[in-house]
Amino acid sequence: MTSDTQFKAWRVEEQDGSHKGAEQTLGLNDLPAGEVLIKVSHSSLNYKDALSASGNKGVTRSFPHTPGIDAAGEVVESATGTPAVGSQVIVTGYDLGMDTDGGFGEYIRVPSAWCVAMPANWDASTAMTYGTAGLTAGLCVQKLLTMGARPEQGNVAVSGASGAVGSVAVELLAKLGFHVVAISGKADHADALKALGAVEVVGRDTLADEKKPMLKPAFANAVDTVGGSPLAELLKQIQPGGSVACCGLVAGPQLQTTVLPFILRGVNLLGVDSVEIPLVEKEAVWKKFSGDWKCSKAEASAKQIGRADLDGALQAFLKGESAGKIVLDHAI
Ligand code: NDP
Repeated sequence: MTSDTQFKAWRVEEQDGSHKGAEQTLGLNDLPAGEVLIKVSHSSLNYKDALSASGNKGVTRSFPHTPGIDAAGEVVESATGTPAVGSQVIVTGYDLGMDTDGGFGEYIRVPSAWCVAMPANWDASTAMTYGTAGLTAGLCVQKLLTMGARPEQGNVAVSGASGAVGSVAVELLAKLGFHVVAISGKADHADALKALGAVEVVGRDTLADEKKPMLKPAFANAVDTVGGSPLAELLKQIQPGGSVACCGLVAGPQLQTTVLPFILRGVNLLGVDSVEIPLVEKEAVWKKFSGDWKCSKAEASAKQIGRADLDGALQAFLKGESAGKIVLDHAI
């Protein structure tokens, strides 16, 4: 490893206000300063990567830029000694892939405080079949459990169920014994959602805009990955004392609700952030996925792609057509 070492990265350039990604050859000196140099073998695709690659300035302010908000691979240089050279690590969130070059390049350089040691008997490829989306699903489920959610309370809803976060949430909740109702706009995906463990699959019209301030309670608890008006409708349908873990905004960042679900039914709206939370909270969820929370079906169904396929895969995210987990394998 020398400072002359070159590597491949899927780099997004800005030209006349539009943004285009393509493979480029970079040198290690093109990477930002940092304590740990990692040879990335795998990254996973996330909605936020699609936002970064399409020039969303709320995600990435300056270009050229290498997206990829998560990465896993081997430590090749370590200024602090922890993590050790030769060890495998997982990096998700903080500024990775936002304004710090991310996992769509074969190397990243990051602070040591961003690195989670790979759980025993796990590898980078498996970790990235979960990726940031899986981590987020795990954090949502953990929050519901911490609030006291139990299978015997009744149905648990998952919105955006066919998406990367939703599909892991469906499988994990089903594995933990919950009666999962998957809410999905993809009728042709119903069998796949049932195979993940959903007992029922219903359309997005379940959360269609209703003028009524409250609706009949249909769900004990929920994981909401879409935000916007579907989340407002979901809140109206939660049983007394139930909780909704909210992590996403594909249906919009606005939440127009009344206080009625909160003050009449004691509903809890739980915010979930996977990005800036302390590393120990991420470590705890990774450890569970490598053990009791293993989601075999999500692991088996993840699609592996190479850098040449990134453009199409990211476009699908923006169109709401993406389904399940997609892993970037730099060896493809
Ligand atoms: P995906 O694109 O994989 O999945 C989103 C799913 O939402 C789609 O598959 C679709 O599922 C549904 N959907 C898409 N558009 C709409 C719409 N207009 N209205 C209602 N439903 C829609 O994204 P991810 O699962 O990776 O991420 C989901 C959200 O979570 C994103 O907003 C993302 O930014 C956020 N996120 C947040 C994190 C955090 O730390 N808080 C971390 C990771 C992700 P279906 O067809 O089945 O309805």
